[in-house]
Amino acid sequence: LVSRKKHPENTVVDLKGVMMGDGQQRLVMGPCAVESYEQVLTVAKALKERGIKLLRGGAFKPRTSPYDFQGLGLEGLKILKQVADELDMVVISEIVNPSDIETAIEYLDVIQIGARNMQNFELLKAAGAVDKPVLLKRGLSATIQEFIHAAEYIVAKGNSNLMLCERGIRTYETATRNTLDISAVPILKQETHLPVLVDVTHSTGRRDLLLPTAKAALAIGADAIMAEVHPDPAVALSDSAQQMDIPQFNKFIDDLQASGLYKG
Ligand code: PEP
Ligand code: MN
Repeated sequence: LVSRKKHPENTVVDLKGVMMGDGQQRLVMGPCAVESYEQVLTVAKALKERGIKLLRGGAFKPRTSPYDFQGLGLEGLKILKQVADELDMVVISEIVNPSDIETAIEYLDVIQIGARNMQNFELLKAAGAVDKPVLLKRGLSATIQEFIHAAEYIVAKGNSNLMLCERGIRTYETATRNTLDISAVPILKQETHLPVLVDVTHSTGRRDLLLPTAKAALAIGADAIMAEVHPDPAVALSDSAQQMDIPQFNKFIDDLQASGLYKG
């Protein structure tokens, strides 16, 4: 169902009026984790000022260590919704448990399925059975074929509002947190008809690489870039090393616009 051979036309996903996959390249930004109403509001206002309506934020955080901040859960989703309602934005947030989907869809606009859950088939099927757009991230060590099969699970259940996100894969390289597989973008666009995003934050794990990798992603034809912004990354409860603060975010947008690659 996701194959380009069977369906040559691009899928365009409507995120409350913001189109994904229509040829205009977009940005999905926001904090790694929802920490407080004030934190989300500060970031969301900065995004809104630069014309960005797609607000990401983790409420259920799939952390590598059980001792790390696990997210605010449903409380976090309520904060995202409150801010999004106030500023007319679109909420993208990760769900890790199939049984949370029913409650969560009242608060979010896009269900994110994270890298660690790309092959959580019960979660894929549950997300495929509801009427909400889904953003599926590539697994930490997943091949492109495995990624496409995971996507097929969602669409096979009836939900064709699906977007794919390349977020870096595990290799022997240690200079970056993961290795951004930039060629996955044109391959996924050739093999499937789905919108393809590139997450520059989790792929690189390095603030100094966000701009060059975002430029590469735009140049190679990604439908959107995902990156994290926090009011004060030094005290962030997760991903402190790669989130941008607000001035860095504004510079990032300025530089992307100056490059001529980003038209937003
Ligand atoms: C995220 O986007 O919040 C996240 C945890 O990313 P990933 O699943 O790609 O690691
Ligand atoms: Mn993060």
